[in-house]
Amino acid sequence: MDKITSLAKRRGFVFQSSEIYGGQNGAWDYGPLGVELKNRIAAAWWKEMTQLNDDIAGLDAAILMHPRTWEASGHVENFTDPLVDCKKCKSRFRADQIPQENIKEKKCPECSGELTDTRKFNLMFKTNIGPAEDSASIIYLRPETAQGIYVNYKNIIQSNRMKIPFGIAQIGKAFRNEIVTKNFIFRTCEFEQMEMQFFVKPGTDEQWFDEWRRRRWAYYEKMGVKTDNLRWHRHGPDELAHYAKDAYDIEYLFPMGWRELEGVHNRSDYDLGRHAQYSGKDMQYIDQDNNNDRYTPFIIETSAGLTRTLLMILCDAYDEETVASGANSGSSSETQSEAGELRTVLRFHPRLAPITVAVLPLMKKDGLAEMAQDIRRELKEDFAVDFDQAGAIGRRYRRQDEAGTPFCVTIDYQSKEDKTVTLRFRDSMEQERVPIAKLATKLQQEIKAYRRKL
Ligand code: ATP
Repeated sequence: MDKITSLAKRRGFVFQSSEIYGGQNGAWDYGPLGVELKNRIAAAWWKEMTQLNDDIAGLDAAILMHPRTWEASGHVENFTDPLVDCKKCKSRFRADQIPQENIKEKKCPECSGELTDTRKFNLMFKTNIGPAEDSASIIYLRPETAQGIYVNYKNIIQSNRMKIPFGIAQIGKAFRNEIVTKNFIFRTCEFEQMEMQFFVKPGTDEQWFDEWRRRRWAYYEKMGVKTDNLRWHRHGPDELAHYAKDAYDIEYLFPMGWRELEGVHNRSDYDLGRHAQYSGKDMQYIDQDNNNDRYTPFIIETSAGLTRTLLMILCDAYDEETVASGANSGSSSETQSEAGELRTVLRFHPRLAPITVAVLPLMKKDGLAEMAQDIRRELKEDFAVDFDQAGAIGRRYRRQDEAGTPFCVTIDYQSKEDKTVTLRFRDSMEQERVPIAKLATKLQQEIKAYRRKL
């Protein structure tokens, strides 16, 4: 994880929040490459959910919701973690994340000092809205995006003429006052979620639950994630949330071990039932195709962290390898002198890579830079393009490898003669000469056909 954290900082993926003041725990800033990567992960998920599914509509609900929402959802009562403090070293732990002997013996796992009793700690950030700071003005920062979907479910049925089964997808910020925020951006107090709630007829919920589990696994395969690093974890009876009838996590093998990446939950009719009870509004669905049958839909939820997915994608893409000798020859190839060097490479899927193509003139002189600028201008309309003319070509390739750029285009003296360029592939480091006129089409084809091999 240290290597990934330092690469992320060095190359501008992720910075510590408010670093000049010593940093803010639980919060991170996404730099130029990080914000592009995050946007692309979000766009890929959004496309998968809304564009490729006719029966899923999008939503962007407010972060601030009526406080009754959180009473209805059960968060005020149940959204707690068990907390213990060490009286000696002042460390704070989640009681369920340290060895249970330490809890029994009240012994700090770090300094052996005395631990406090376990107490419940609500993870919601509480603040006040309006000028008066009294109990009537209390408002919460949402701890999940899901509730914004439930309270809008009738609006969406009416405005979009949705019929069950259908889904609502949303991407947005969520906030949790996490007790322990280690492992870089894995668990933070401010983060983003990508959630989809699928409304189904009771009795069909188990079948839809299985279907969404299948689809979510297939999605990660499609994104080129190494499936050896993915597994299912089914929640046991003691792990199930208060709303869940059944729940599976997709876990990823992060550097610190297997951890939850996404949850697929059968939430039963708990949520809509509770909102009906707390709001006094009818949340039942009227099935006009079936004698106006009325029922409270069951909900199948797929809930993934966007920022946690970004960490997963960084870990999964990260690779180090020794450059083979003489893999290529020619003016723009990795030269013999670099053979044996270690290269760090991020093997992002080209659809996720922050930079899709880097344009590199071999020399600044003799009109090569101008020619490269023309190509850059041309490609910019359709691709995220970087331009780099500084330093040895091998070193420029290394910089692009570290940024995860799947394609480099090199303009050399031959380009001036025959209007071709070298297209260099990040993963294999192989090169191919391509006519400039066909470059954009070639890149489109390569992106579409991309399959991760390494
Ligand atoms: P955990 O048990 O790890 O606290 P959870 O089971 O409470 O997580 P959910 O409420 O199911 O998590 O949230 C859905 C997804 O949101 C998680 O799978 C994760 O990807 C993401 N997520 C949850 N909490 C955080 C956090 N503090 N920081 C970053 N991502 C988070």
